[in-house]
Amino acid sequence: MSRIVVCGGGMIGLCAAMMLARDGHNVVVLEGDPSEVPANPTTAWDKWDRPGVAQFHQPHNLFTRFRMICDAELPGLTDRLLEAGCVWVDILDEYSIPPTITDKAPRPGDASLRFVTGRRPVFEWTVATMAAGQPHLTILRGVRARELVTGRSSIAGVPHVAGVRTSSGEEIHADLVVDAMGRRSPACRWVTEAGARAPIEECEDSNFIYYTRYFSGRRPRRVGRTVAIRAGSVAQGHYPVAGRSRVIRTSRQRLEGIGRWGGP
Ligand SMILES: Cc1cc2nc3c(=O)[nH]c(=O)nc-3n(C[C@H](O)[C@H](O)[C@H](O)COP(=O)(O)OP(=O)(O)OC[C@H]3O[C@@H](n4cnc5c(N)ncnc54)[C@H](O)[C@@H]3O)c2cc1C
Repeated sequence: MSRIVVCGGGMIGLCAAMMLARDGHNVVVLEGDPSEVPANPTTAWDKWDRPGVAQFHQPHNLFTRFRMICDAELPGLTDRLLEAGCVWVDILDEYSIPPTITDKAPRPGDASLRFVTGRRPVFEWTVATMAAGQPHLTILRGVRARELVTGRSSIAGVPHVAGVRTSSGEEIHADLVVDAMGRRSPACRWVTEAGARAPIEECEDSNFIYYTRYFSGRRPRRVGRTVAIRAGSVAQGHYPVAGRSRVIRTSRQRLEGIGRWGGP
């Protein structure tokens, strides 16, 4: 079986690492943030210092495709998320389906539209605690990957990636290096510095900003479960995140090129 280094121990890095380890590979995850995983989801929300994930205190929707892949490849993850306080969102339930849609009869495939939502620290905590118990998987926190290590090339002009060098200078050799360093990943630069042609990278600033506020208490009778409102450049989502808590998330898109926030 292969030795694999995953750079980045966020949700994608840890889920990929668990899947690879379950296939029998020996996997090492390098996570730049040094904080250890807290004892429970409440402490994860209150105290877990994760500067490497800028949106760490935002709500998170584990959309259906991801949830279905996890159900197949990482059985038990969805149950663990629910135990930790995440909740189901069903956009077809009696509260959420718009009154203008009168045919509410269930159809095959409806279940696949359900997804799990919650506060992101709870997701990160659940994935991290599940990964910590995975055989063949080692997670090194506070270890930042700095650049690729190259070995002897077997095809002229094509560099051979043989591992990564950490910020302390240690070389970790691997048959495969996985980039899970998030949207600010330096991997494209690493690849060109190693002598390969630049990967094709598409990147666009969509000018969104988010405001989030969490509320807790009894759910008002007249407010449905999941509400999405769009007015001009402003979109607002109201949905449950745990038991009696709800979140209101407002996002606003800045109109491109004219340097002002769009109206109304
Ligand atoms: C405001 C906001 C809201 C979002 N809401 C949703 C949502 O509801 N649902 C959804 O599916 N997606 C959402 N996204 C997108 C989603 O957050 C990202 O797609 C997701 O975080 C990607 O996870 P990731 O593990 O790839 O990266 P990240 O979560 O960014 O994790 C990257 C990890 O790599 C580590 N790292 C970085 N560089 C190094 C290095 N050199 N060495 C070692 N470690 C390193 C970081 O510390 C971090 O832990 C949202 C994004 C934003 C900005």
